[in-house]
Amino acid sequence: MKIKHILIVGAGTLGSQIGFQCARYGFKTTMYDLTEEALAACRTYHQGIAAATKKDLGLDDAAIAVAFDNLTYTTDLKAAAETCDLVSESVPENPDLKRQVFAQLNPICPEHTIFTTNSSSLLPSQIADATGRPERFLALHFANRIWVSNVAEVMRHPGTAPEVFERVIEFAPEIGLVPIRIEKENHGYVMNALLMPLLREAQTLVVNGIAGHQDVDRAWMMATQAPVGPFGMIDVVGLETTFTISNYWANVTGDEQLRKNADYLKQNFLDKGKLGLKSGEGFYTYPNPAYAKPEFIGKQ
Ligand code: NAD
Repeated sequence: MKIKHILIVGAGTLGSQIGFQCARYGFKTTMYDLTEEALAACRTYHQGIAAATKKDLGLDDAAIAVAFDNLTYTTDLKAAAETCDLVSESVPENPDLKRQVFAQLNPICPEHTIFTTNSSSLLPSQIADATGRPERFLALHFANRIWVSNVAEVMRHPGTAPEVFERVIEFAPEIGLVPIRIEKENHGYVMNALLMPLLREAQTLVVNGIAGHQDVDRAWMMATQAPVGPFGMIDVVGLETTFTISNYWANVTGDEQLRKNADYLKQNFLDKGKLGLKSGEGFYTYPNPAYAKPEFIGKQ
């Protein structure tokens, strides 16, 4: 099956990045969100991603122009859905919302359209029946800063048709990414199954007063030679998304520490408009966060 037109549903942090990546690799890409304000923010973010890809990948103006030529922005879901071959959904991490979005898409998309979710922590089977086409639905999960973090996790649910799973595995390299096959459903795929416990334990250390966030990051960066620690990562992921995930699992499991961690993020960050990198302040301030300076880890 030929994939030509991609529809991105939810033009926030990740949706914007996925859309730009698809467009840069030659796919007609429509960015859909609920409001003109959200689309305006996406356009601005696309300018930032264009600058970042120039800096990080050495892309020239012609390559950037290809991406912008392939991008359109709309609040008209029906018109965008009519011709799309693959949907990539990046609305907030709420299973009811995701179910509602796919239920809305099913009657207005062509029958051949493949539906994918970029959910970080949910299972496709929590959403599949609501899509009306469970055999053409699966997870295609991307990493933040997609232009340099070139990994795509492809995770089927028990009802995903094998040929649809294989087609999405093939699609990943078509947008410059390396697919990771996930044959069995798992909360958090591979990447987040490893990352979530790290971010959770880092928050617990700070919330329980064991160490400050800079020392937690410093210890991790110095011991593992990583360029960023868990709190730098949380800023990139976004405080809203990190809170939504902690809050969801605190509600599902009744885990008291997770509840404390979620409440801490809400009171100290969300309620103060500190959303991480995207708002210019989270655990660090941007564009020059303290952890990126050589002296942070004792270098001159
Ligand atoms: P975000 O809050 O930055 O963006 C969500 C966007 O969805 C917003 O622009 C919002 O207006 C829009 N939206 C809300 N309801 C909608 C609807 N009914 N229809 C269309 N658009 C709607 O969130 P994000 O960080 O981009 O996360 C989105 C999804 O991607 C989540 O499932 C998250 O788990 C996943 N994800 C996030 C990251 C990350 O690092 N932030 C990484 C991988 C996956």
